[in-house]
Amino acid sequence: MKFSSIMTAELGNYGREFGNYDLHLYSLHYLNRFQIMASMNEGEPNNTLATATTVPNDTNVTGSISSSSDIDYFKIVLPVKQKINVFLGDVCSDCDYDLYLYNSSGTTIAWSVNGKGSNELISNQVLEAGTYYARVNAFLNYDSTKSYLFRWKATQSWPAVNTTSANITSPFGPRWGTNHNGIDISRGVNDPIVAAFDGVVTAVGYDNERGNYVIIDSVVNDENVQTRYQHLVDNSIVVNIDDTVVAGQSIGTMGTTGFSTGIHLHFETRTGSSVTPVDPMQNHFLNW
Ligand SMILES: [Zn+2]
Repeated sequence: MKFSSIMTAELGNYGREFGNYDLHLYSLHYLNRFQIMASMNEGEPNNTLATATTVPNDTNVTGSISSSSDIDYFKIVLPVKQKINVFLGDVCSDCDYDLYLYNSSGTTIAWSVNGKGSNELISNQVLEAGTYYARVNAFLNYDSTKSYLFRWKATQSWPAVNTTSANITSPFGPRWGTNHNGIDISRGVNDPIVAAFDGVVTAVGYDNERGNYVIIDSVVNDENVQTRYQHLVDNSIVVNIDDTVVAGQSIGTMGTTGFSTGIHLHFETRTGSSVTPVDPMQNHFLNW
């Protein structure tokens, strides 16, 4: 059991290097979450893409390099377009381990190749839905008796699984003599809805306009960002007020409750102390 070591890595390295964590506002939530954080061990043999260890989002994995030719592959499956970080920590002081990120066909997308005793971080990779692989190997020195920590995390997620920005059926802006405060996303199917950012659920409810809705408050790059998800299917919402959620976590199912003429997600991003609606596609999802 090396739980205390993992805790240290989280707060000392991972927590700091992953800038999307805001330790001022959410320290208590995240500390609570660290205490129940999912963890697993690498599954040997995982020395090929075909035998890669599948790692869920936001899960600590302990592994070790057992020989100079030992390569550890980890499989990352994105259900929707996401921005992710990939982290290799607890690298022993005499070890030189490197971290690579591949697409599904084994082409290198990104890498982090610091020197001896250094952790590795591949950050802010915006990737389409699909399968990816991370590779850990020893560049020079290794120590088979010491465990490293592998982890990947989505820091931002498109909010509706099985859709992209091509599925926007109504944009943000003037509409019907008022302002449409969000975007509508639809492909006519009851797709899962996921949280766009790490955050805390601040409202879950129903009214005749929004139907079943969820509101999540987040801090993104030191800015308060509120996201709103509306028209969800009755009884599909799986989060409660005060729940801490992570980007990409399911919160409910796309529906057509409230003032709605067909199955779609009405998705809003609001910023600042006045919680002003802003166009998601011109701000946090620019070029998505
Ligand atoms: Zn709408």
